[in-house]
Amino acid sequence: MRNETAVVLGGSVAGLCAAGVLARSFDRVVVLERDRLPADAEHRRGVPQSKHPHFLLNSGRRAIGEIFPGFEEALIAAGGMHLMPSMDAAYCENDGWAPRKSGSMTMVYSSRVLIERVLRDKVREVPSIEIREGVTVTGLRSVGAGAPSGRVEGVEYSTAEGEDGYLAAGLVVDALGRGSSVVDWLGAAGWDVPPQQTLDAKVTYTSRWYDLPPADRRPESWWWKHLVITPTQDGGDHPAEHEFLSNFFPIEGDRAIVCMGSWGIEMPRKAEAFEAAADRVRTPVFGRAARACTPTSEVHLTRSTGNKWRRFDLLKAPPVGLVSIGDSICAFNPFYAQGMSSAARSALILGEMLRVRGAVDLAFTREFLRRQRASLQVPWMLAMARDQAYDFATGTETAPAWRRRITARLSWPIFNAITAAGREDAYVERTFAQVFNLDRSLGQMAADPRFWFGVVRYKLRQRLGRTIVPGGFDDQRDPPGTDFTGYAGPRGASPSGGARGDDLVGA
Ligand SMILES: Cc1cc2nc3c(=O)[nH]c(=O)nc-3n(C[C@H](O)[C@H](O)[C@H](O)COP(=O)(O)OP(=O)(O)OC[C@H]3O[C@@H](n4cnc5c(N)ncnc54)[C@H](O)[C@@H]3O)c2cc1C
Repeated sequence: MRNETAVVLGGSVAGLCAAGVLARSFDRVVVLERDRLPADAEHRRGVPQSKHPHFLLNSGRRAIGEIFPGFEEALIAAGGMHLMPSMDAAYCENDGWAPRKSGSMTMVYSSRVLIERVLRDKVREVPSIEIREGVTVTGLRSVGAGAPSGRVEGVEYSTAEGEDGYLAAGLVVDALGRGSSVVDWLGAAGWDVPPQQTLDAKVTYTSRWYDLPPADRRPESWWWKHLVITPTQDGGDHPAEHEFLSNFFPIEGDRAIVCMGSWGIEMPRKAEAFEAAADRVRTPVFGRAARACTPTSEVHLTRSTGNKWRRFDLLKAPPVGLVSIGDSICAFNPFYAQGMSSAARSALILGEMLRVRGAVDLAFTREFLRRQRASLQVPWMLAMARDQAYDFATGTETAPAWRRRITARLSWPIFNAITAAGREDAYVERTFAQVFNLDRSLGQMAADPRFWFGVVRYKLRQRLGRTIVPGGFDDQRDPPGTDFTGYAGPRGASPSGGARGDDLVGA
């Protein structure tokens, strides 16, 4: 693949990760991006979702670090915060505030725009990658459409100055995001259109950016950096806001994104309504925290959240010379925070395959699609597991009524049981964190006897009144800052620091 050019369509997270791996195998990599890219961490037109919180899961952070060594350090140096959610976040769960305690998972918190800026900085350190800004991709050129010998040969584009151009490519990577037109271009050229799996659970996000008050003016009860309020499960009469999944999400520069999301509920889009809704979230701590801060943005609302998977892997003759990564192939309900990580994981697969295989031919394309499918199935199953519960969800993946009822009835109680058991059983905590971070699949967790033993043992202890770590603290009051790490029960050690992530009841 030396002496060849690889062309990446789109210069966002997926495109930049792809460029990073392609530069190891191609002499020249050209990224075509419609926007002018800001030098700093700023919003831009092509990535409207940057106004909302973006969690970077561990598997994604690791994958990006493999593509761009030093990424995590650079993100932290630029203001990202390396935190341990179980210690630094206050979780308002079904039964109230969760106990604060050391866990296995850490996260680097930052804004999405900072993640992209750091990625761009990394890409610009690679001399063989050229980013062409203000260039709109308008089509593909291919030969032998639909035949096993068919392939994509290059890309048509137009510049901001109105000039049209063409770039021949040994490999084209589609990273144009959710709205990618690549499938339409292929269809128009005579290729089979990949079947599409969809499930839109009508998720809406509404977010606003705030400056935190100076540290010395924050109340002592404000030990937490991140607030998470899960939807109520009470099933009774309550304000709609009790069903929101709400986040007070810390980002660089002593700021936070206050975000409320819901499945199927109308969300506020004006400042006054936003603040009033924040006050009605099921703990008053959320609204109080927002009011203690200074708003610095308008309210941003998005409904562009449906799950959508374009199944190139099911095509009899997939186009050779083209791969799709990121949202262009598979976009998820953002509640599960999987998009950027899935994109980076796909880029890693591409990089590995380019390293070991000599040529981008049909066998290469098929194997890439097979490996990418296995990787995407992990987050896809997780998204389906909850989104299929909603009667109002639409798409090809809606479940029959009986399964919707079972999923709706069981998914939260199972989640409650797992998170509660995880407080006292390090194996359960670690396994669930691995699933959340895409390091293990839901299927692997479901088939793990040690995991379920821990959950059932906890439930039995609960029934016998013999659990150790207290939970369910009153959510009408501030979340308790007590550190229950190493806590051995009311008659044992007093709450304090202790062994990190140890199993409190023995394995
Ligand atoms: C509300 C919300 C919250 C989210 N939260 C999370 C989260 O917590 N964690 C997480 O991992 N993911 C999250 N996501 C998903 C995440 O934003 C996406 O998965 C990720 O941005 C995918 O990156 P991408 O590069 O594939 O696409 P995009 O980021 O959409 O980028 C596409 C790029 O292509 C460019 N482009 C488009 N058309 C053209 C063209 N014709 N020519 C040239 N350039 C073009 C655009 O300008 C843009 O730069 C969230 C998404 C939403 C909507």
